[in-house]
Amino acid sequence: MENSIRNTVLTWYANICRLLLAVVFVFSGFVKANDPTGFQYKLHDYATAFGLTAWVSESLLLAAAIGMAALEFALGIYLLLGFNRRFASGMSVLLMLFMTPLTLYLALENPVSDCGCFGDAVVLTNWQTFWKNVVLLLAAISVFCLRGRIVRWISRHSEWMVSVYMLLYICIFSYYTLKHLPVFDFRPYHIGADIRAGMEMPEGALPPLYETIFVMERDGEQKEFGIEDYPDESWTLVERKTILKRAGYEPPIHDFSLMSMQDGEDLTERVLADSSYTFLLVAYDLNKADDGYTDLVNEVYDYCRAHQYQFLALTASGEDEVEQWLDRTGGEYLFCGVDETTLKTVVRSNPGMLLLKEGVVVNKWANADIPDEYQLVASLDELPLAKVQVHSVMSKIFTCLLWFLVPLSLILMLDRIWNFSGRKNKHDYINPLKNKKVEMRKNIVAGNWKMNKTLQEGIALAKELNEALAADKPNCDVVICTPFIHLASVTPLVDSAVIGVGAENCADKVSGAYTGEVSAEMVASTGAQYVILGHSERRAYYGETVEILEEKVKLALANNLKPIFCIGAVLEEREANKQNEVVAAQLASVFSLSAEDFGKIVLAYEPVWAIGTGKTATPEQAQEIHAYIRSLVAEKYGQEVADNTSILYGGSCKPSNAKELFANPDVDGGLIGGAALKVADFKGIIDAFK
Ligand code: PEP
Repeated sequence: MENSIRNTVLTWYANICRLLLAVVFVFSGFVKANDPTGFQYKLHDYATAFGLTAWVSESLLLAAAIGMAALEFALGIYLLLGFNRRFASGMSVLLMLFMTPLTLYLALENPVSDCGCFGDAVVLTNWQTFWKNVVLLLAAISVFCLRGRIVRWISRHSEWMVSVYMLLYICIFSYYTLKHLPVFDFRPYHIGADIRAGMEMPEGALPPLYETIFVMERDGEQKEFGIEDYPDESWTLVERKTILKRAGYEPPIHDFSLMSMQDGEDLTERVLADSSYTFLLVAYDLNKADDGYTDLVNEVYDYCRAHQYQFLALTASGEDEVEQWLDRTGGEYLFCGVDETTLKTVVRSNPGMLLLKEGVVVNKWANADIPDEYQLVASLDELPLAKVQVHSVMSKIFTCLLWFLVPLSLILMLDRIWNFSGRKNKHDYINPLKNKKVEMRKNIVAGNWKMNKTLQEGIALAKELNEALAADKPNCDVVICTPFIHLASVTPLVDSAVIGVGAENCADKVSGAYTGEVSAEMVASTGAQYVILGHSERRAYYGETVEILEEKVKLALANNLKPIFCIGAVLEEREANKQNEVVAAQLASVFSLSAEDFGKIVLAYEPVWAIGTGKTATPEQAQEIHAYIRSLVAEKYGQEVADNTSILYGGSCKPSNAKELFANPDVDGGLIGGAALKVADFKGIIDAFK
């Protein structure tokens, strides 16, 4: 009972953590793809803060911005749909292990004011970011450790389609926003924004108060001074620091000021108060600006002259660059000097264009979308491009979701049809929330000694194990399956309340002239209670078929022996993705039993490629096939019998991996070969249930 509650709680916890991570990653990947240039600027800030600018080019930063968006989005979708669980949870841990100390450093030293994790959509302080990352790191570690419990919403066969579509979607979206400006504009200069309103201080609000600190040095001694006690010339300035003395209200727009580069006149008010239209060409750096569309810019300028609209170009470049630009492009317009960061905020394209009327942003274009002479065919009052068309955020979200969900749903629908049409395996969908271990199902750790240990060695091993388990009671049933000749000696040596004893095989005949064989009745007469049947080594080396095993199982049951019935595919079958078919066929040996008799057997799933090789199935692989086997039992005998059947995992199970394997809801213990020959190892595996 306790086990079942623990399992349910762990499964819910794993899935809650996974959903939290998934939502955060999808959101943060999406907002980065919505504004790759913005994240590129942020990465540039990081490179400057860490003195790396000499090592990174702008194009590398842009590639990194898009790569980061795609990675986060992909991890989010993997976690949301529950596939590629090892990769997604492992990468999430690595990502958060990198981000958490980095953001702690940002919070302590403040080299970059906002981490940029959610673009401009949600701006967090550095400390908020750090604590958010601590929570995500814990969630990522939990998901990694409990990844076998993650609910999968898509079958294996369709994973690749979802991966390809998801990557295409996020890369095409990044390309689109790069070429045509962000779809969601979270900045203060979005279409419809009133720039003058954005500059206003609410009544009674106080601006933030900063203080400048001067770090000075004299005779090797360093001291800090303020502006009032600035020292005499015997001190030399080492560093100037600006610290925030009092937090205050900073209007969203606080540095929009247009200074004519011709005569230094402040044109800000003239532009913002203009009751007609003003076109602003915005190019924060003319050396980096794309001059491929300057014909369009000149067409707009000519149009403005013809219709008496203002046209100004804004840049943070110097006079020489302005002159070169005008020479190169044939431009005749006036340039204003504006702060670089402001211009990067106004429009992401370099150059880009804005249309203002009475200080309101009426429209905004990326370089390639600047309207041409075919669009500018009348005065602006008559053109739709000069009307504020703010598409509601909701309708944009809806469109983006539609572009993602409709094709994805089609893929998923095809996947379902494909799988449920019987051509593939419908049990590929694993929902551990539905798979609770029930009270009656036993957890069992069974050792298979194979052809190892002389009688004396076997007796010593059994005694040692008996003592170890007497001193530290196990939390599961323990069985040792020994060679025939050990049975009669070992059975009375061990405490039967703690350790069950079994054989590794029995004959498919009742009795008679079968030289060298040992019957089920003989095994039972030693006091043994179990028998391993169908082990892959017996199938492979002694030609045991489905029919022979069917006989053996029936004889074992007739003699009150509990069969531990082994099934599992070989490497070639697994590589051909036939493991499900193989185990289904092998189960035929026990599916002829009545439900009552079937209830007496234990199943052991052993991937043959993992037996004695040191290779283990991953917990996810084990869980998937165990759930599949249980679903076959449920189909044959009903859910109750399936819920009560213990299914053990076998194949290079060791103390180091047992806990992770047994944590899966459908893995009820292990059949242990090599590690059963040493008490310390075997006990280590048994203790996985502690
Ligand atoms: C086995 O033979 O049943 C087995 C699981 O062996 P090992 O643990 O050595 O892989």
